[in-house]
Amino acid sequence: MEDTILIVGAGQAGGRAAEALRRGCFKGRIVMVGDETHRPYERPPLSKDVLLAKDDTTCFSGWLHDASFYDDSAVEHLNDSVAKLDTQRHIAILASGSELTYDKCLIATGGRARDIEGIERSARVVSLRTLDDALRLRTLLIGAKHVAVIGGGFLGLEFAASARARGIDVTVFEAGSRLLARAIPNAFAEKLLEKHESQGVRVIFDAGATSVRTHDDAVIVMNRTGTSQFDFCVIAVGQMPNDEIAHQSGIAVDNGIVVDEFCRTSAPNVYAAGDCANFSLNANGRRMRLESWQNAQEQAIAAAKNMLGVETPYRPMPWFWTDQYDWNIQMLGLHDDSIDRWVLRAGADEKMLLIGLRENVVVFALALNQGGDLRALRRVIEQAKPVDADRLADPNVKLRQII
Ligand code: FAD
Repeated sequence: MEDTILIVGAGQAGGRAAEALRRGCFKGRIVMVGDETHRPYERPPLSKDVLLAKDDTTCFSGWLHDASFYDDSAVEHLNDSVAKLDTQRHIAILASGSELTYDKCLIATGGRARDIEGIERSARVVSLRTLDDALRLRTLLIGAKHVAVIGGGFLGLEFAASARARGIDVTVFEAGSRLLARAIPNAFAEKLLEKHESQGVRVIFDAGATSVRTHDDAVIVMNRTGTSQFDFCVIAVGQMPNDEIAHQSGIAVDNGIVVDEFCRTSAPNVYAAGDCANFSLNANGRRMRLESWQNAQEQAIAAAKNMLGVETPYRPMPWFWTDQYDWNIQMLGLHDDSIDRWVLRAGADEKMLLIGLRENVVVFALALNQGGDLRALRRVIEQAKPVDADRLADPNVKLRQII
């Protein structure tokens, strides 16, 4: 008899894993349990295209597969929630009360928007994680004049850019003293701030102690700069991993579900991938969760291969992008405090490449409106060899020549 593979979570990682299992010629039963009513979709359009599109009917096109894919590929998609795994007996207990027996299981439960203590959600104090959230926000944007965003991270800034494109006044309250402190270099954070301010966004820093109250048709935001009224408020202060089912099932959890390089959790035959998984980038690297499209895609595919017995270590080169106004920002590698030198390769018309080196070895690159250059830099980063930083800074020297 063929095995049954259970996929918990019908998001990007869950959907891609199902596809990869069939591509890998898995002939057994695949059951994918997801607690959203939709089939798997990609989330990046939620803060961009969905909020920007003029037409409701075409505002979302981020489905992972055609609706027919699941029947055609014999992937059973149940709209339910997995409450717990009995990892000894290989049984999943669903919220509906039913049970599912599995041979192997992939946990791909993603994450959820982080709450702020003391700030209660309401119809006007909202977050953005799901397609339903995005469609609700789209409705709220219609007729809104002034919105507040708590959190100056990628999501908050993408939302701000989308709201400005609709002519709505936006105030961003950021707890830190600069934008995106851990994710991007300071020099670029300043440039990004200038961009948002030039587009009319008001950014208030050091706004950690902000309180938000819903009153009839408005929200009142209070902080050190005073009290202001908005039509609604978006909470965008990061994400929490959905790792509770692993924790309750006795599987090791530490800021996400702990997996090894083969995406295996501490329980036999249970794997994890995507935003919920905590893994090590390389043999000596620190553990982390990557909350990105690339990670959901590639780790899910690696997990599927490993579940099929094709040993596939997962060692990604982190890549992330964000779109804000006419800016496409892409990042490759890891940005951290160990970077001891920055090289700027300026291009024309709001194009640039910012390259971070550690002991003359390129470890990170940020491209503004020239993501194509990251392809050449990927090889430079992979090689992990010292380079001539002056040549790297010279736009007349082709990146390919540096390798
Ligand atoms: P998810 O897509 O979150 O899927 C997990 C699914 O599991 C969800 O449907 C969840 O409801 C379900 N689930 C949870 N618990 C259970 C349970 N117990 N039982 C059943 N189902 C369960 N990344 C980029 O690189 N670039 C971008 O521009 C970008 N933009 C983004 C914009 C937005 C608005 C958001 C929210 C994310 C964005 N990302 C972006 C990040 C990227 O979309 C995520 O990293 C990716 O969706 C993670 O995929 P996942 O499958 O791990 O999790």
